[in-house]
Amino acid sequence: MLRRQSARESAARTYARALPIVPVRARGMTIEGADGQRYLDCLSGAGTLALGHNHPVVLEAIRSVLDSGAPLHVLDLATPVKDAFTTELFRTLPPAFADRARIQFCGPAGTDAVEAALKLVRTATGREGLLAFTGAYHGMTAGALEASGGARDVRVTRLPYPQDYRCPFGIGGPDGAELAARWTENLLDDSKSGVPDPAAMILEPVQGEGGVLPAPDAWLRRMRDITAARGIPLIADEVQTGVGRTGAFWAVEHSGIVPDVLVLSKAIGGSLPLAVVVYHDDLDVWPPGAHAGTFRGNQLAMAAGAATLAYVRENRLAERAATLGARMLTGLRSLAVDHPCVGDVRGRGLMLGLELVDLERAQPAPPTRHLDSLTPPPTYGPTTDPAGPPKAPQYQHPHPHRHNHPQRHQPHSLPDTRPHPPAPELAAAVQRECLRRGLIVELGGRHSSVVRLLPPLTITDEQATAVLDRLADALTAAERSHRRTTDGRLAPDHP
Ligand code: PLP
Repeated sequence: MLRRQSARESAARTYARALPIVPVRARGMTIEGADGQRYLDCLSGAGTLALGHNHPVVLEAIRSVLDSGAPLHVLDLATPVKDAFTTELFRTLPPAFADRARIQFCGPAGTDAVEAALKLVRTATGREGLLAFTGAYHGMTAGALEASGGARDVRVTRLPYPQDYRCPFGIGGPDGAELAARWTENLLDDSKSGVPDPAAMILEPVQGEGGVLPAPDAWLRRMRDITAARGIPLIADEVQTGVGRTGAFWAVEHSGIVPDVLVLSKAIGGSLPLAVVVYHDDLDVWPPGAHAGTFRGNQLAMAAGAATLAYVRENRLAERAATLGARMLTGLRSLAVDHPCVGDVRGRGLMLGLELVDLERAQPAPPTRHLDSLTPPPTYGPTTDPAGPPKAPQYQHPHPHRHNHPQRHQPHSLPDTRPHPPAPELAAAVQRECLRRGLIVELGGRHSSVVRLLPPLTITDEQATAVLDRLADALTAAERSHRRTTDGRLAPDHP
């Protein structure tokens, strides 16, 4: 089957390349291959399977629709199944948002809901431009791709997304996030910045594909304030972060912001395709048929999704994701102590990542920079703090003297905090070694050097321990299997 697949399927196939398995059965976190091998699944359909594979409440919901004789395809007509889904979804939304919310059912993929959101705000504002972030991922259709980090679209203004480890300003922490916010503010207020008034800002509360980068809550609040003050709708893309994944039902709840538009997909369909855009009713000025599509009424997905949303809510799985995620983050940090090739460990809830770096290759020395003194850079080394992982960075406004002109102060050189270069080959080797040990992990990040863990929210303590054990073994094996080539680059033993 694998041979036939590679002979017949597109060169653009993705997961199938790194994960040459043939799943035939699955339950919870476990997948069984055609060869009888069992795997713990930390990919979860790219973050779709909040309850793991074939959860009983999901199967029951699907069966009851099938047994009821209800139509399976109804375009966007009203049905009891859709009504129940919408009721359950609105019940989970932050009340301040739900009170004035409208929902549009979209084509079945997250990317289609992103397209709908962009069309919605462009229609409502009469403006074209978009503010989006470095490292963003919003999907594969034209508009969503434009908003994603790899694009070069003139309508999109690219803004710095805050990150500690590879902070574009070299300082990380609250100061790095503050500089990113000021950059945004300045671009919008400078009449000669070349940035036209935008139709919206689109952001992910945690960048997933970008390499598991949680936005600081305070920075998100800054983005909300900046956009609100300038009449710019804020779109939160919660396709991957939604339904408890980050330790809150919706990731925007961590910061308390209320976006104007929420883009939702993946977990809301309970493992079946479903995507919606939910937005403030002030924006609801697009005409009938503005975002149509044949497949916007998937009854099975709505039933499976409603059952999933209700199960996550009733069983407080978001809280569970927060506690277990914090424990796993601590475990990953202590794992990093034994594996210096782990440059950074980060995450929020059960959205976790390890960035692998090439220790042999240092970044070239930076030129001496004379800038105002900034607070000391954070230390990035692994921590074994028994109190658990640090809290999400709290935003603090910098000291007042920092508002003065830097060049009028005694200049200081910024310490070079630049991390080692990413190690994509090593990350791929870790993924292979994980698979050999019965663990499915995903790679992500700008250079595919971040090993990502997206376990279902139903993962047990024992399974979490098994994941960490297998990952530790895989790291040891991958490090060993790498040898140095003559040009000093890391190269895998296996082609
Ligand atoms: N937005 C985010 C944040 C995503 O992570 C993804 C997919 O990973 C998408 C949008 C696109 O969703 P889909 O692959 O269903 O089109």
